[in-house]
Amino acid sequence: MIPISTVRLGPEVEALVVEVLRSGSIAQGPKVAELEAGFATLCGTPHAVAVNNGTTALVAAFEAIGLGPGDEIVTSPFTFVATVNAALEVGATVRFADIRDEDFCLDPDTLADQLTDATQAVVPVHLYGQCAPLEEIAVAAASVGAAVVEDAAQAHGATLDGRPAGSWGTATFSFYATKNIATGEGGMVTTHDDDVADRLRLLRNQGMRQRYVYEVAGHNWRMTDLQAAIALPQLRTYADTVAARRRNAAALTDGLAGVPGLVTPRELPGRGHVWHQYTVRVTDEAALDRDALADALTASGVGSGVYYPRLIGDYDSYRDHPRVAAADTPVARRCARQVLSLPVHQHLTPSDLDRIVTAVRSALHA
Ligand SMILES: *Cc1c(COP(=O)(O)O)cnc(C)c1O
Repeated sequence: MIPISTVRLGPEVEALVVEVLRSGSIAQGPKVAELEAGFATLCGTPHAVAVNNGTTALVAAFEAIGLGPGDEIVTSPFTFVATVNAALEVGATVRFADIRDEDFCLDPDTLADQLTDATQAVVPVHLYGQCAPLEEIAVAAASVGAAVVEDAAQAHGATLDGRPAGSWGTATFSFYATKNIATGEGGMVTTHDDDVADRLRLLRNQGMRQRYVYEVAGHNWRMTDLQAAIALPQLRTYADTVAARRRNAAALTDGLAGVPGLVTPRELPGRGHVWHQYTVRVTDEAALDRDALADALTASGVGSGVYYPRLIGDYDSYRDHPRVAAADTPVARRCARQVLSLPVHQHLTPSDLDRIVTAVRSALHA
């Protein structure tokens, strides 16, 4: 089976983890600080604050910018549930705007309808590793005085007009086991804002700057040096990881050209895609529907994934939630029915790529 994602950590990671283990200092320490510095460089931001996972990163970013009960955010309904859960956790209300099917990200033209006097943040999700149209989103957010919080959990190192994801406002990243940089669990918040960074560091550590001096009511959101030791070698070689993913995406797009009913993903002009996922759309013109294609691929030993099968607002737990507003988002609805992600990770071989292309083409009789 060619898996949709795979974790293969090399001898550099092993050596660094062992170094931390033997140091006897395994909680947050110098390795976390080193990871923060390296990650800030990747994002072109003065601050990067490590936390224990990507969902915490969102909660932390929201709390640090002062989001709370009575405030609203606008985000994509076509995302991993953490985006919404984090806003609910700080007491905010969630509204959804629609997406575009060219990049699967928030459509700035549909944002205006969802902005209200209570909107405190617009939360674009850089789905599959490509930046949302941040310039237009930032203009729309600014029109009501709202902040931009990028959910960049899938987009480490992605760019828009040469500017990195994470540098457009306050932004959050995940190092979950399937992400482009993976530590099992882990997260990061980046920001240009000195006050937000200071609040993040306080909130992360029980409100303490000095031991047992509690300046605010805080949390324990700390990352450990063990996780940072897993991330550091991956960060050092990350350019190679992205280059391999780009090559694989190009090979898939080449091999899958001209299949009726299959729409391959595009890197839009000005955007540097980091190919967290390679996601095709299976339209009504295809020989099989999306789920049947996924089954056929499984039968030929090719893994695939549906990210995500339903819109957040379509689950009972959110449809009936008093702080989740109903919204009509037809493009997102269609995408949830059509998307299928194929393996694109850096460990694929040329023969894996051939097998993926052949399996898709033969399943769709192309
Ligand atoms: C993975 C992910 C998160 C949450 O990250 P965790 O580290 O799993 O908590 C949030 N948003 C998106 C879009 C994600 O893909």
